[in-house]
Amino acid sequence: MELYAIKFGESSFRLRHIYRDMPNSEETTKIAWSYYIAKFNDITIAIDTGFRDENVAKKWGITFTGVEQELSSIIDNLAVVDMVIITHSHFDHIENLDLYGKPEIIISKTDYENALQQCSHSIIDKLNQCHVVTVENEYIYNDLLRFRVIGGHSKGSSVVYFEADNKHYVITGDECYWCDNLISNRPIGVYASTQNNERFIIESQRDKLIPLPFHDLNIFEQYSNITNNIVRIL
Ligand SMILES: [Zn+2]
Repeated sequence: MELYAIKFGESSFRLRHIYRDMPNSEETTKIAWSYYIAKFNDITIAIDTGFRDENVAKKWGITFTGVEQELSSIIDNLAVVDMVIITHSHFDHIENLDLYGKPEIIISKTDYENALQQCSHSIIDKLNQCHVVTVENEYIYNDLLRFRVIGGHSKGSSVVYFEADNKHYVITGDECYWCDNLISNRPIGVYASTQNNERFIIESQRDKLIPLPFHDLNIFEQYSNITNNIVRIL
């Protein structure tokens, strides 16, 4: 399996959103906005999509990296992607779904229903055109990936487990903003159910999983660069 992390933006962000135990902090930090692309045999899988709306970016203070120009170093174009896994239906994870061809889509039932209510028309159209697997609890793809609904960050927010080279990884969705949420056992500050988030973190720590979050700049320091904003994890 090949696995890449793609950083499409950067911004400052409040620490109290990253850590539940800092509710009164006004302190800010710098975060990444990213998604993942995996290749396995002849199958290409995107895990979340990013977004591109300039107005939304402005509202959140996000600077886009322009990573689209770098994507050709790992895939021909987004139309070749066979499957898109959506960890949850927040804009930064789903709003570029319309750029893909006709992938199979994996998403929790709860966040699918939410997406049909709240996403842009082009995203709703895409959901209606594609084969969507809606997951209530767990979905195992090809003995390779295990998609599991956690429901900590959002009601249906999900994570993806996999094993490679005898190491166990978890793509955390926003159940962790940073690797440190898992490593230091510090639940996130933005949640639908902090109990569900806490349980996920404790279990992942117990099982010594390697976290792959979506908002951690360290991922882009820690793994080797393919281009400016793309690193190779596997
Ligand atoms: Zn996010």
